[in-house]
Amino acid sequence: MLTTKTLRQIRHAVRKLNSKASTHMKRQRGDSSPRQYTPEELREFAQILARMKEDSLQQVQILRESVIGGNPDDHAVMLIQRELRLVGYLDAALARIENGKYGFCLSCGELIDRGRLEAVPHTPLCLKCKSG
Ligand SMILES: [Zn+2]
Repeated sequence: MLTTKTLRQIRHAVRKLNSKASTHMKRQRGDSSPRQYTPEELREFAQILARMKEDSLQQVQILRESVIGGNPDDHAVMLIQRELRLVGYLDAALARIENGKYGFCLSCGELIDRGRLEAVPHTPLCLKCKSG
């Protein structure tokens, strides 16, 4: 038979446990502040990079055909060069995923912000180094 007193003691114990658990969780979350990206995240970025590369190569193909078809204007040539440069960056980023260097700034070695990688997945530099 539970008395009011025992009930109160149980509630108190549960509350204490809960608060302990939540501080533990908070501490854990703090400790696992992203020092590197997880294999799942890297796989996601690899997929994005591969898709971008595919799109880019398709663009190059289309542009090349338009150049062959008629007057190769400077604009088309410029666009081809730009796409090929992007493909180069994408390849380099894919290579960095392979060798475990992806997500780290090539200049300062710091982890590149996830938001920045989402905006520019092939970037080799953190925002600080890019703008500095
Ligand atoms: Zn940097």
